[in-house]
Amino acid sequence: MGYEVLARKWRPQVFADVVGQNHVTQTLHNAIQSGRLAHAYLFVGPRGTGKTTTARILAKALNCQNRQGSEPCGSCASCKEIVNGSSLDVIEIDGASNRGIDNVQELRDNVRYAPVRGPYKIYIIDEVHMLSRDAFNALLKTLEEPPPHVKFFFATTEPQKVLSTILSRCQRFDLRRISVADITAQLQKIAKAEGITISADALLAIARGAEGGLRDAESALDQLVSFRGKTIEEADVLSVFGLISRTQLEGLTDAILDGNIPAIIEAVAKIDQSGKDMQRVVLELLDQFRNLLIVMHAGKNFAAFDLPETQIDTLKKQAARSSDGRLLRIIELLIDADSRMRYALSKRTMLETALIRASRAATVATIDELMKQVVALKAAPAVSMAQESPAEYDVKKKPTDDLERLKSAWAELIEHMSKGAPQAKHYLTDTIPLSASDTHVTIGIDPEFSGELSNLENPRTLLFIQKTLSSFLKRPVSVGFSILAGSLKCLPTDTPVQGLTDKQKYYTNPAVRSVMETFSGEIFDIRK
Ligand SMILES: [Zn+2]
Repeated sequence: MGYEVLARKWRPQVFADVVGQNHVTQTLHNAIQSGRLAHAYLFVGPRGTGKTTTARILAKALNCQNRQGSEPCGSCASCKEIVNGSSLDVIEIDGASNRGIDNVQELRDNVRYAPVRGPYKIYIIDEVHMLSRDAFNALLKTLEEPPPHVKFFFATTEPQKVLSTILSRCQRFDLRRISVADITAQLQKIAKAEGITISADALLAIARGAEGGLRDAESALDQLVSFRGKTIEEADVLSVFGLISRTQLEGLTDAILDGNIPAIIEAVAKIDQSGKDMQRVVLELLDQFRNLLIVMHAGKNFAAFDLPETQIDTLKKQAARSSDGRLLRIIELLIDADSRMRYALSKRTMLETALIRASRAATVATIDELMKQVVALKAAPAVSMAQESPAEYDVKKKPTDDLERLKSAWAELIEHMSKGAPQAKHYLTDTIPLSASDTHVTIGIDPEFSGELSNLENPRTLLFIQKTLSSFLKRPVSVGFSILAGSLKCLPTDTPVQGLTDKQKYYTNPAVRSVMETFSGEIFDIRK
């Protein structure tokens, strides 16, 4: 006997073996037990989730000569005939290849005859949405007055294309995408039985690639065995399916969250060199950021989410460095990139730009955050103006302290940076730290010297400034620049806090600056 592919060999033969669709199998179990059966069932769901498999098990169960509870016995003549496709009572029709009216006409003539062996004559029509309109209508006539011995089981991936008059005559079951946890567990079981040694990361990579379809996951395992033999590592899976590794994915996520543009550019170059599928990378990142959002709101209830335990710690750490507003913006940008990439000539450029945009979204305050700061600011000015201390305007204590530390050490920091990058001193002379969040420092540039911006944004210079500020603040920060609305000339650089006019104080306040940058605004008037 020849080699039997895993998906076929491991196809579930009883309801209990169907993976991840308990809501369907339980209902069918109850229907069989109570004898309350519909004339027509419609199984809806993505490819490879078990639609026709469930329909076949149901057909076997209904015609089984020795049913065990609600399960087919698998060994009676009827069960055996259905499994090997020779049953005269269970007729399978592929809607995709039998689109014409003739087959349905034949079907209508055929349904009048009583079943040969079992109590029911069962028609399983796969991809039923593919039938032509005439075929649909002919089918409908049979469905309207089905003989009592006839059952119809339809399966489709696209229920919206099935006529509503047909839909209304069916009991519908929606099969779900199968969870990563369920897919890895099933693959593990198969691997063990088949003597395949496969690492946990490799299993996870297959499950990621299968996108909720168990059959695809099993076919992938098949391919890998023929490609690599019976020992499979994550790298094998990644190279066969053009996926990037979990470490790469997490590194890229870190770079986006940190606004670390040089790291993003480097990562994209590596992905490109290794010939990975760029579109796929975007989808994987989407998944990662969606997971971050889930982890952020999950509390302690991780069990309810389809996340492998090995990932949860990393996700928790990454989530702690962002906010849901920022994550949502990144997700929107990635969705946008995904749809635009389909038509892009240079997927690499598209990916690079999208990720740099995402990194900006990760480090720039959201409107929500700004509004909160504005509200706090409105409540504060009377007191703080009296104290002549701009630090009072800030909402968060810690970044304010950092900003003050940066400001007072700025001259020394510039001096230090000039040792590693001599030109940096020149570029940085007319700058001032404007804001310092947990992960990002914004440096303001005197409008008169805005021409230096491109020099400062040179990846090497930027990286150096980033390193210096990170070591000064004792945590990794990204760095961005912003052209000031007013000149720095009148600000003494060593003690920028002293002797400022009200307007200047607001210009240097990070919250006000963020609002001004977001809305491209200027300060016209200050009302107390
Ligand atoms: Zn049987």
